[in-house]
Amino acid sequence: MTAGELIYEGKAKKVFHSDVPHVVIVEFKDDATAFNGEKKGQITNKGAVNAVMSAKIFQVLESEGIATHFREQLDTRRLSVDWLEMIPLEVVVRNRVAGSLEKRIGLKEGSVLEQAVTELYLKNDSLGDPLLNDDHIRVLRVVDSALLEQMRKQSSRINTILQHFFEQRNLILVDFKLEFGLRQGQLVLGDEISPDTSRLWDRTTLKKMDKDRFRRDLGSVEEAYNEVLERVLS
Ligand code: UDP
Repeated sequence: MTAGELIYEGKAKKVFHSDVPHVVIVEFKDDATAFNGEKKGQITNKGAVNAVMSAKIFQVLESEGIATHFREQLDTRRLSVDWLEMIPLEVVVRNRVAGSLEKRIGLKEGSVLEQAVTELYLKNDSLGDPLLNDDHIRVLRVVDSALLEQMRKQSSRINTILQHFFEQRNLILVDFKLEFGLRQGQLVLGDEISPDTSRLWDRTTLKKMDKDRFRRDLGSVEEAYNEVLERVLS
């Protein structure tokens, strides 16, 4: 498969046309940003870790009946995926308190949530990706209520599958972010699942093994990403 023209370049990925209709090529970069792009840096080999890990997770999810955009891993940092009409929402699912939830509800980082908490954020850089409630989503007409319900259900199923998957690899899935799109009108999981878009802690030591090491200058960022990939592939 040959990469064509660049369609889009984001903070962590480039998307190219391919020579197959409705298929695009995603290239994962080593560039890292945090706090709405205020903090910038590079994490060596991050692009490869995130590409290979996402490919593996998408395959796991597909085997459990979840539709994803994944088609093929082309090389260490490029995947071919189905082109989706993306829904401009980020779905965050949380099993423990961390990050913005700690600030929002005041529980201590690491507190186990009695039930998973799902949040929806509008993808809008100039507004700083605000948290939305169902009424906001309704008046904005981002998605209709049936599709919203489907996104919530699918996210919850993905959480159950991934919690189990990571637990078997001695990792706690603290929280993660999903993005969905439509393929011929059907809801399909897109984007990536990686230590950039999830919080993963070692079950034994509670060591942070994700982008928080970069956000909070905790050191050993590359080592943590490589260790997560090794466990994911084990
Ligand atoms: N997340 C993400 N992209 C975003 C915002 C959040 O991938 O634009 C992920 C983040 O890595 C974490 C989860 O979503 O796994 C919840 O993030 P949170 O709301 O706590 O915000 P953060 O502390 O990451 O700013």
